[in-house]
Amino acid sequence: MSRVIVCGSLNMDVVVQSARRPAAGETLLGAEVAFLPGGKGLNQAVASARLGAPTSLIGAVGDDSFGKALRSFLADNNVDTLGLGVVAGQASGLALIQVAEGDNAITVASGANHHFSAAMVHATPQRDEVWMAQFETPLAATDATMRQARQAQARTVLNLAPFLAPPPELLQSIDIAVLNEIELSQAVGVALDSASAESAVIEACQMLRAQGPRAVVATLGPRGVVVVTSDGAVQIPGYRVPVVDTTGAGDCFVGALAARLADGATPFEAARYGNAAAACSVQRLGAAPSMPTAEEVAARLA
Ligand code: ATP
Repeated sequence: MSRVIVCGSLNMDVVVQSARRPAAGETLLGAEVAFLPGGKGLNQAVASARLGAPTSLIGAVGDDSFGKALRSFLADNNVDTLGLGVVAGQASGLALIQVAEGDNAITVASGANHHFSAAMVHATPQRDEVWMAQFETPLAATDATMRQARQAQARTVLNLAPFLAPPPELLQSIDIAVLNEIELSQAVGVALDSASAESAVIEACQMLRAQGPRAVVATLGPRGVVVVTSDGAVQIPGYRVPVVDTTGAGDCFVGALAARLADGATPFEAARYGNAAAACSVQRLGAAPSMPTAEEVAARLA
């Protein structure tokens, strides 16, 4: 199996759970706290590695205790961290998640992620590798890294999340663009939502594909995914499963897709696999901790 190289963000998610939301200026006692490794780069790398692909994460942490904890979590999940830079004097990325009354409020302090640059990428892309990125780290670094990977004829996967308008040259260096329907709607300027007809989603994917990516994959939550390639469009229906927590479902999908591509699958086969993997992940709590094993995905596909 070829190697998956993920360029992206790492955060420590500090989740504080309380019975109710404090009012402005109020101090509320009696909350519970959990420290959960997260960030799109970390989640996608863990998904890929748990599914058996040799996986590296390239990104940046701060010189603090969260940086050490994130690194050791990755090592425990068989993700290679040699390409993880330490930014002196910076804090590691942190997401402060306040959970109260069945809802959450999230504040992200990007910290070291914001200081990630192409100069910190020391690995040279190899032809048989899969390189992937998202938009939680600076765009200039993502752009330069993906273009370099493309020049080396590695396969490139871009998850356009959270959405920002990509430079045309970046889109032209992408083999597979992956995005949910809100991001797709932002990318092509067409209104889409969970009630949109399949034909409207396919048309929007085709519009994005015309801008460069060789394939476009739209994730549609419980409705599954749409894959548009030069061979045409296919919808892969979602699995009906008891849902516990959908956090990280998109990251699970992208990580699983990359792992399967590294094993020689076509975009369609890889998306089918990602759809099954993400359906497993929604049945467990959390993002990175909910990523399934290859055995679980095989059972779901059987
Ligand atoms: P998130 O931001 O929650 O990580 P996302 O918005 O990026 O997710 P979605 O389209 O919601 O991405 O979900 C990604 C994939 O996860 C879907 O294409 C599907 O395969 C799977 N999935 C999500 N929700 C469900 C569900 N309720 N039942 C089954 N599969 C699901």
